[in-house]
Amino acid sequence: MLNVKNLTFSYNKTTVLKNITFKVKLGENVAVIGESGSGKSTLLKVLYGEYDIDAGDIFWNDKKILGPKYNLVVGYDFMKYVAQEFDLMPFITVEENIGKFLSRFYPEEKHRRTEELLKVVELTKFAKIKVKTLSGGQKQRVALARALAKQPEIILLDEPFSHIDNFKKQSLRRNVFKHLKDNNITCIVATHDKEDVLGFADQMIVLNNNKIAVNDSPENLFNTPETPLIASFFGEFNLINNEIIYAHQLKVVEHSTLKVEVKQSYFKGYYNLIEANLESEIVFFEHQESLKPGTEVCLAIKK
Ligand code: ADP
Ligand code: MG
Repeated sequence: MLNVKNLTFSYNKTTVLKNITFKVKLGENVAVIGESGSGKSTLLKVLYGEYDIDAGDIFWNDKKILGPKYNLVVGYDFMKYVAQEFDLMPFITVEENIGKFLSRFYPEEKHRRTEELLKVVELTKFAKIKVKTLSGGQKQRVALARALAKQPEIILLDEPFSHIDNFKKQSLRRNVFKHLKDNNITCIVATHDKEDVLGFADQMIVLNNNKIAVNDSPENLFNTPETPLIASFFGEFNLINNEIIYAHQLKVVEHSTLKVEVKQSYFKGYYNLIEANLESEIVFFEHQESLKPGTEVCLAIKK
């Protein structure tokens, strides 16, 4: 279990993380979300032992995670970290990169692990290709596979799919998170993409103003977002009578007191997002068909 207690960290004099406390059980998947600059990457680096902290404790089971002042070689065998900026060996092949830290005294095991991980990140066809010729997204997949090679107990992933195109992203995300669950590897993933969270995370930590704003299941946070920040992570929303109402919770009805005038329709695939005027305010709602600007409709809130 990961146990973070009253963690405070500053770069020089600027405090980025203040009094951070949370626990993660073995095999759990935790998403850390927050706006750009909210400290997600910093938190992962601190958990990895890359920096000395101002106050607090970080424990993996009964092992205390120490910063560089107390630990000469940064990092631990049981923990892997995949940074936003990944550093691979450009002049060796994909499979050599993945197997880099696996013992050459067990060639069969090394081969088996490498093959397995090439499948997870869908790079089997690229095994013999030199890393320097790969695209950014392909490199990111090699970095993921390399971090998984030695079967860590806990893995820290910083925006792990950010460089990967939409064609590959969905299946890759499922492969990687399934591999982690199947092998009971604890995972902490920093992300700003709800797709990395919904359906995968057991726990969601929201960073805001240097602190943990909330820590709850994605289901609870989606269903009852306490702040606009949380709602905005999940999708388009409105503040109606001080209540957060998602765009999908507003429906067109025959009669209601919520009369709006359509400004614009945005085609979103299986629905249209409609922007409309509600007196002097703007509201967004979802509707099957597109609606012409100027159309007047009544809305009702359906939860
Ligand atoms: P996120 O990953 O959520 O975008 P970061 O952890 O990268 O946020 O950054 C949090 C804050 O710390 C930002 O204000 C950023 O400018 C600052 N910061 C990040 N890295 C450093 C650094 N090496 N030195 C000084 N300040 C930094
Ligand atoms: Mg970051």
